[in-house]
Amino acid sequence: MSTRVFNFNPGPATLPLQVLEKVQAEMLDYKGTGMSITEISHRSPEFDAVVNSAVARVKRLLGLSDDFTVLFLQGGASQQFYQIPMNLCQGKKPAYINTGTWSTKAIKEAQILGKDPVVLASSEDKGFSYIPKEYEVPKDAAYLHFTTNNTIKGTQFHTFPKADVPVIADMSSDIMSRPFDPKPFGLFYAGAQKNLGPAGVCLTVIRNDMLERVPEDIPTLLRYTTQASKNSMANTCPCFAIYLLELVLAWLEEEVGGLEKAEARNQKKAGTVYDAFDKSGGFYKATAAPEDRSLMNVTFRLANEDLEPVFIKEAAEQGLKGLKGHRSVGGCRASIYNAMPQAGADALADFMADFAAKNG
Ligand SMILES: *Cc1c(COP(=O)(O)O)cnc(C)c1O
Repeated sequence: MSTRVFNFNPGPATLPLQVLEKVQAEMLDYKGTGMSITEISHRSPEFDAVVNSAVARVKRLLGLSDDFTVLFLQGGASQQFYQIPMNLCQGKKPAYINTGTWSTKAIKEAQILGKDPVVLASSEDKGFSYIPKEYEVPKDAAYLHFTTNNTIKGTQFHTFPKADVPVIADMSSDIMSRPFDPKPFGLFYAGAQKNLGPAGVCLTVIRNDMLERVPEDIPTLLRYTTQASKNSMANTCPCFAIYLLELVLAWLEEEVGGLEKAEARNQKKAGTVYDAFDKSGGFYKATAAPEDRSLMNVTFRLANEDLEPVFIKEAAEQGLKGLKGHRSVGGCRASIYNAMPQAGADALADFMADFAAKNG
């Protein structure tokens, strides 16, 4: 009998079972090499095929033209917080929208570098529980940076900001959960460990004209041009993480059927969980503004907060794990990324109804 649970962890997060089974099957002997993928050279033909397939899958899934370069970088999404201002400012001030913990950190890094970031709008006044909608983007900004989905606060941009300057987005927790138009983007990035695979690799997509902004006087590995000219293999790349990411992308293309299908699945799952709040007569309360609720990270409180540890414990006993909110906000959070099946959302909604009936 399977011992797998429904895993609602925010990242590292659940992966498709099929992908894990494939990794298991290929672990001791990758395609007749007699070695695992993580024991062979990143310069071998076998690994080259993995990277090239991953790049091709990213391009197909996102509908990227050849104006974009796909990079697999280290240092997580957090490294992008400083790599972006280091590479792309050209002496101009960057603009940011602040919608939570991760945007705040990105702004801080631009400040540390002395780039004088301008914060155009912030939802800090209400604990980052909504997405600001009124702001004007200066025409002379280096770029506009925003966070598409706020993993900790449970809000999401359902329409993207418009600007005359290149748009840059941290998409760590909702990349490939829905289709979007890549054209306005100068760059977007996502730590893989939420929607794309394991920790250890960050997908960064950069529009080629942005590479012309990269200065010469920053360390070699921190210049986007370095990895762009070497297909992400200027140094030893995170081989195992890229291999796993490629398998997740294959699952997304071949099993799920692309991003429109992924979005439909995600809407249905999120609908199941949010309905459970709305039906509970106030027993559970979603913390995000209704129009800005995330389809990926459902954040909520119990009206009686003392019951939250009991809720989390009893859920775990029934095979629903990882429901504790981020340590900075408390409460509960269900992360329902691409790889969470509808059955997980259904099981959570059923548990919530039972728990409310028993404790209400
Ligand atoms: C998790 C997360 C990060 C941090 O990613 P690391 O890979 O740990 O650096 C950044 N931004 C968002 C939106 C996240 O969800």
